[in-house]
Amino acid sequence: MSAITMRELTKVYPNGVRALDALDLEIADGEFFALLGPSGCGKTTLLRTIAGLEVASGGNVHIGGRNVTNLPPGKRDVAMVFQDYALFPHMTVQDNIAYPLRIKKMDRRSRGEKAAETADELGLTALLQRRPGQLSGGQQQRVALARAMACHPQVFLLDEPLSNLDARLRLEARTFLKRLQRELGVTTVFVTHDQAEALALADRIAVMEGGRIRQVGTPTEVFRRPANTFVAGFIGSTPMNLVDAEVHDGELAVAGTRLPVPDEARDRVSAGEKLVYGVRPEYLDYSPEPAPGALSGQVVVVENLGSFSLVSLDMPSGDAPATPGTSLQVVVPEGREPEPGDTGWVVPRPGRSLLYRDGELVSTAAPPAVPAARTGADAER
Ligand code: ADP
Ligand code: MG
Repeated sequence: MSAITMRELTKVYPNGVRALDALDLEIADGEFFALLGPSGCGKTTLLRTIAGLEVASGGNVHIGGRNVTNLPPGKRDVAMVFQDYALFPHMTVQDNIAYPLRIKKMDRRSRGEKAAETADELGLTALLQRRPGQLSGGQQQRVALARAMACHPQVFLLDEPLSNLDARLRLEARTFLKRLQRELGVTTVFVTHDQAEALALADRIAVMEGGRIRQVGTPTEVFRRPANTFVAGFIGSTPMNLVDAEVHDGELAVAGTRLPVPDEARDRVSAGEKLVYGVRPEYLDYSPEPAPGALSGQVVVVENLGSFSLVSLDMPSGDAPATPGTSLQVVVPEGREPEPGDTGWVVPRPGRSLLYRDGELVSTAAPPAVPAARTGADAER
């Protein structure tokens, strides 16, 4: 069993940079877990601290119930795939894959067999005698994965495993990686700055900012209900609309219109309060005619994104004195796009509007727990 638990994990580099700031996180056994955040937020540092390549300045790390905080990397039973793959250029594919087994003092014959077997699982058999320089980026990445898999670690740690591949290959490799992780069932932590990749691959995601975790949840949870405006702006291929709002007469004054206060926030707001109204462009329906409960504005930009367009509208400020004019983005299916200059109406889908106070979600819902099936009695053994 190989759940990973971090408590108050802190890393301060010798130059004073606090890359991890008293971070608490639980990763369940067998989970495919993403660390997501902008460059410099501490993702690589966290992965390297789990691997033992960095020494924690405070707090602890447990893997499979064992406190590994002060153990060297070789005693942690983890395998890491580095962003640049770090293959040995002078060795064949076979020797690269077999290298960790050699370090573990497995005999030559057994490690050759083991390398060939792992290569076979990853479709690399025909390449065993080549050197890394004779491989494509995608093939090199598979060799790096094979090298990590060959010693059957308890935990895989992958640092931006797909970022060196071009866009098309990246999608292929993504599907491959997801399938491989399902088949192996090994607890896997992967780092990415690409929110689409995290949403597509992960069972759960931790969104990081400045050495801290801002939200942990399933892709659906972080997409539908970002816990704060940082996550709301970071997740989604088009960022969430975040618009100033004020509570008046039990309603929300937003962009020149009155909207109902979202159900979950109804008992938690007070008259005159200034809040931020959040709704994703995907959860707004565009109409060329007035519609009940619609916000109206003027179309300023129409961006063609293939099967749909992203339409930006300038909105009036209306009767909420503290909320200046703002703009909204709406996803419109192909064939229904307006023209710049048109007046348009947008209707929020029921149950998809969120309210933020001081950057935090106003909600009655309890934060989601670690998946029960994976942290139950089995994980305790
Ligand atoms: P990410 O992988 O999310 O881009 P990193 O973990 O690499 O972020 O870096 C987190 C912070 O720590 C950054 O401010 C970075 O400059 C700093 N940092 C990373 N490695 C070192 C190091 N070896 N020495 C000093 N500062 C570092
Ligand atoms: Mg990094």
